[in-house]
Amino acid sequence: MPTENNNAQGTLIDAHNHLQDQRFGDDLADVLASMQDENIVHNIVNGTCEHDWPEVEALHKAHPERISPAFGLHPWKTGARSIEWQEKLRHFLLENPLASIGECGLDLWMRDADIDDQAEVFKIHMQLSREFDRPLTIHCLKAWPQFIGLLDSSPPLPDFLLHSYNGPREHVPSLCRRGAHFSFSGYFLHPRKQQTMLTFRHIPDDRLLIETDAPDMAPPEIFQGNYHRDNYHHPADLPITLTELAKLRGVSIRQCGDVTTQNAARLFRLSGFR
Ligand SMILES: [Zn+2]
Repeated sequence: MPTENNNAQGTLIDAHNHLQDQRFGDDLADVLASMQDENIVHNIVNGTCEHDWPEVEALHKAHPERISPAFGLHPWKTGARSIEWQEKLRHFLLENPLASIGECGLDLWMRDADIDDQAEVFKIHMQLSREFDRPLTIHCLKAWPQFIGLLDSSPPLPDFLLHSYNGPREHVPSLCRRGAHFSFSGYFLHPRKQQTMLTFRHIPDDRLLIETDAPDMAPPEIFQGNYHRDNYHHPADLPITLTELAKLRGVSIRQCGDVTTQNAARLFRLSGFR
């Protein structure tokens, strides 16, 4: 049953999720149908490791209108990469001209992080982004000095997405000048994420996107809708997150939704969105 506000909100794009995740399993067709009911018409589906890239590609091929693929090595998974990983990544980018690059980045929140190794892998994603002229989706947790250092010591990147941005507010203007976009996640509705939430009041209109990161990063229970499942965060609940983001920014749901859709379409070069 669609939620009440889906006419008010216009069409939405989930700028970052992982629909290839096995937790969706046999539910995936229903998940996509529920998203359609909620006017969530497109998804940027991010691979995380060599193992799931073929699954992301297959989803894109099965639903080209609904799913754009992204291929990358998540910093949690860099340790398990094969020696051919770069060659494989190039192959997926060549075979999928509409693909972006991600999820990749730096993470010092994880236990036993090998930041030098992560940086080596991330630099290769940055190089590929420039070489193929494709947008990057970046995960950065507690590694802002290292991330800024890499940006400072590298040639400029094509525009990129800092997904679930939880970095310092004061970095936003300089990151914008370098082409950064920022996606808001329902996870930020947890009371302990209040500071991050407030940062999203200060993201410029033309850099704001919205995402679920489903099946992970569920919002707190009071912001979970009818779709929510015990074993995964259902991406059709995105309009609930949008409603809270619109309140935070003091704009209408429609205005907030339209802005995030236009920005996602421009950043990921999707045709068919105005
Ligand atoms: Zn993710």
